[in-house]
Amino acid sequence: MKSKVYFSSTQARGYHENKISKIKKLYKAVRNSELFEKKDLVAIKLHFGELGNDTFIKPVFVRQVVDLVKEEGGKPFLTDTNTLYLGSRKNAADHLETALKHGFGFASTNAPIIIADGLMGESFREVEINKKHFEKAYIAGAIEEADSMIVLSHLKGHEMAGFGGAVKNLAMGCTNPHGKKEQHSTRPIADHLKCIGCGACVRVCPEDAIVLIDGKAVIDGAKCIGCGECMTVCPTKAIVLNWSEELLEFTEKMVEYAYAAVKNKPGKVIYFNFLLSITPDCDCVPWSDTSIVPDIGILASTDPVAIDKASLDLINQGGTDKFKSMRKETLGEVQINYGAEIGLGSKEYELIEI
Ligand code: SF4
Ligand code: SF4
Repeated sequence: MKSKVYFSSTQARGYHENKISKIKKLYKAVRNSELFEKKDLVAIKLHFGELGNDTFIKPVFVRQVVDLVKEEGGKPFLTDTNTLYLGSRKNAADHLETALKHGFGFASTNAPIIIADGLMGESFREVEINKKHFEKAYIAGAIEEADSMIVLSHLKGHEMAGFGGAVKNLAMGCTNPHGKKEQHSTRPIADHLKCIGCGACVRVCPEDAIVLIDGKAVIDGAKCIGCGECMTVCPTKAIVLNWSEELLEFTEKMVEYAYAAVKNKPGKVIYFNFLLSITPDCDCVPWSDTSIVPDIGILASTDPVAIDKASLDLINQGGTDKFKSMRKETLGEVQINYGAEIGLGSKEYELIEI
């Protein structure tokens, strides 16, 4: 069966077509009666952005969703989880400070922030899924305990996943560092012909798994947790994976975690994808590159697979797969195909422009 995906483009010729009013229209279109009841706790899952990044979803947009939930008597809170890698969101204290620096204070968004997996990732619930790679997954406590969830995703590229949208936001974004580590079973190697010995990978590695020997990076596979941070910072693309075997497993594992994040909330999750500032890299990186295509619009759906498929189709209008042409080894399509295969959602959709 086709899933409905509502879409509003960025074109605007009057106040009634600004992005705020479009978010309201999309919310009213996608909101189903089961989503939440009065006094229910509604997790608004977003990404506050790594310090230095500036293309995360703007607080002014988040505010609109918060106000809409409050108007209907729900109790919204903003949430994300701690990262596996070193950076400005490694624990809840740093994470909250980063969120505030990026404008997500109560005065702006009208909602409190709860880092869903606790101070250091200790808050989680086990969710049984019995899929190919995992029998159970570790979902962040506050996300699993919330009655409902509204997932706000900034659509952009990603070094290993190909792209990041709703599925990736659920997969990596709704688990604690242990769950993130389970998904990152890949182990990169450094190509010494390309390595210039700059040491950027050594500095960023959260596990001290890289040393420079004779001016070349050497990765200790026993220490490496596969987070991929060294790949992101390497200026010469010297750090690579065994792409064909490892990326398929990584991407499928992500999809299984996404399934776990919403398994116990049937009918109680809606998704917004923001196709604005579509950068080559994730908001986890401390920079924001030029957009690869002009701003397109905002989508809303109750289906994470359908909304990601519709987002990709809009970005790739004209025929070229934009994310794949930047990183040919990545397998972004697996997020869609395996998501449909395991029942996370449908890749068949009806696009309804509003
Ligand atoms: S070697 Fe790279 S992938 Fe492994 S833990 Fe360090 S930064 Fe992460
Ligand atoms: S970041 Fe890349 S070029 Fe720099 S030391 Fe590491 S592998 Fe070598």
